[in-house]
Amino acid sequence: MPIYRAPVDDFRFLINDFLELDKQHDLPGFAEVTPDLVEDILTNAAKFCEEVLQPINQSGDEEGAHYENGVVRTPKGFKEAYKAYSEAGWGGLGAPVEIGGAGMPMMLAMAVAEMAMSANQSFAMYPGLTSAAYSALAVTGLPWMREHIVTKMVSGEWAGTMCLTEPGCGTDLRLMKTRAVEQPDGTYKMTGTKIFISGGDQDLTDNIIHMVIAKIPDENGQIHDDLSTVNFFMVPKFLVGEDGKMGARNGVSTGGIEKKMGIKAQATCVLNFDDAIAWRLGPKPTPLKPGEKRSSSAGMAGMFGMMNGARLGVGIQGIAIGEVAYQNGMAYAHERRVGHALTGPAEPDKSADIEFVHPDVRRMLLHCRSFVEGARAMAMWTTLNMSIARSSRPEAANAGLLADLLTPVIKAFFTDMGFEAANLAMQCYGGHGYIRDNGVEQFVRDGRINQTYEGANGVQAMDLVGRKLGRKGGAAPMALFGLVSGWLGENETDAALAPFVKPVKRGLDTLQQATLWLAQHGLANPNDAGAGATDYLRMMGIVVTGWMWARMAKAAQAKLATNPPDAEFYKAKLVSAKYWMERLIPECPMLLERIQAGSETIMAFN
Ligand SMILES: Cc1cc2nc3c(=O)[nH]c(=O)nc-3n(C[C@H](O)[C@H](O)[C@H](O)COP(=O)(O)OP(=O)(O)OC[C@H]3O[C@@H](n4cnc5c(N)ncnc54)[C@H](O)[C@@H]3O)c2cc1C
Repeated sequence: MPIYRAPVDDFRFLINDFLELDKQHDLPGFAEVTPDLVEDILTNAAKFCEEVLQPINQSGDEEGAHYENGVVRTPKGFKEAYKAYSEAGWGGLGAPVEIGGAGMPMMLAMAVAEMAMSANQSFAMYPGLTSAAYSALAVTGLPWMREHIVTKMVSGEWAGTMCLTEPGCGTDLRLMKTRAVEQPDGTYKMTGTKIFISGGDQDLTDNIIHMVIAKIPDENGQIHDDLSTVNFFMVPKFLVGEDGKMGARNGVSTGGIEKKMGIKAQATCVLNFDDAIAWRLGPKPTPLKPGEKRSSSAGMAGMFGMMNGARLGVGIQGIAIGEVAYQNGMAYAHERRVGHALTGPAEPDKSADIEFVHPDVRRMLLHCRSFVEGARAMAMWTTLNMSIARSSRPEAANAGLLADLLTPVIKAFFTDMGFEAANLAMQCYGGHGYIRDNGVEQFVRDGRINQTYEGANGVQAMDLVGRKLGRKGGAAPMALFGLVSGWLGENETDAALAPFVKPVKRGLDTLQQATLWLAQHGLANPNDAGAGATDYLRMMGIVVTGWMWARMAKAAQAKLATNPPDAEFYKAKLVSAKYWMERLIPECPMLLERIQAGSETIMAFN
């Protein structure tokens, strides 16, 4: 039976010591957040995830979601767990108070989301997508929707989905065929098929609010293979009146659920829209003036907001799967006896030593740990930047740029590394890892989709290189480089920090060279940018996580100087930090060489 123990000590360290909660009270949502409140939230969420969600993770995978006669049922125990999750208020932890949430900072909501995803990714996706959907509806919806629909989604009474993908279009949304035609009363009738919709149907909630993108035909009744007629809509499973009363079933039906490699307890649905009543969110498209060219529709704006939140959430799924897989690999490596330590038996009275004595096994596990804790720090720091961006601090504009720049890095680098970690943890089990009963192979299967959905990782890399780097004259990378080099300058004379400062400086130099190379070559030949994008994203992930590790090492050294009772925790931080410097930062020159190789060979491949 797999185990999971929520990393409360790490969250506590990050929030109180690393991100210095006591200096953040001026930020929106932070005024009343004390260390005691943080402790209360973290320990209660940990208990819930360990005792309610984790025990139904393996059984949920075995049983899977069911589809019969148009009805979807979640596996045994999910309904009760969902009710308890909603009643405890976890689904609305980060939602503003005005819409019924607890108004806690995003940092805390993300910490709880990570725990839930480690404990049970399939389950956590139901409330996770609901939160992305209600956040978008709260911003783009009408007052009656905020009052009667958003509040029910925040409380967990109703759920939400994101409906973008169609059989003929996933990444390339220009090709979508679903259309919405305006009715005399201002609503729309929607027709089309959406596929792969997470939580598209389930038996957990009375109603489901679908957030859908579809095309409004132009004045000639045509839709086009571009984004100009794309708009964002709300389509409830059961109709809702402006007084909040639930009415008849809408024209949305479930065509089936996908048989998948992993996250089997999560119902991934085909949804058919047959004259479904839809509400447009966002401005009405205006007819083209003579000679005017079609451009991206303003109606997409609400959808982008929703997708950005979801991208961050998927990146955190990468950390979550890495954490739970690591914990199980670590436990197994301490139980299994195999061979002897290279320097002679560690336990001469036993016929073999525990697996953990082997340097290669330690390498695998330390790789996981160094990733998980470094990535967690970067994700938490990014959510802090999101809060700073909404404040009146002078650095607010830069904080927004940084969060925007790092969102694709968090999504792609952390899900690649999370999958790597799940594989390494499975390797610790030897052949037993491949056997389903032991539960570790589920993490590999569940974690694999994180690299693909919410924008495939190669597409995230193109977003970083093709859009984020150059926007506003390169303001975002300049802000990042300025911040990192400023910190390195402040700490370069600290001898105790030298093992961390020097490698991060080397990494940053390489990242700046790669950025310059892409700026010089990518514009002249876009294939050079495309061929180097994935390596560049990984390099940025390694350098920024390395900087997080250097900063955590500083915080850990400061704590150790006070002789704390939990000194082992801080000593372990220094070991993980050094691993990142010795084993990940050295990838940077190799990645630079690959980027600078350009696209010629790749494009010559026929
Ligand atoms: C389990 C599961 C749950 C999902 N949940 C949802 C959901 O809730 N809502 C929803 O709308 N969708 C959902 N999806 C769909 C998912 O987001 C898409 O599968 C994904 O965006 C990729 O689209 P596609 O499958 O059509 O691949 P394609 O768009 O056909 O792309 C195939 C591959 O080509 C490459 N590629 C494509 N374009 C580019 C480019 N411009 N640059 C570089 N490489 C490129 C990428 O490697 C990509 O993986 C889900 C999918 C799965 C499997």
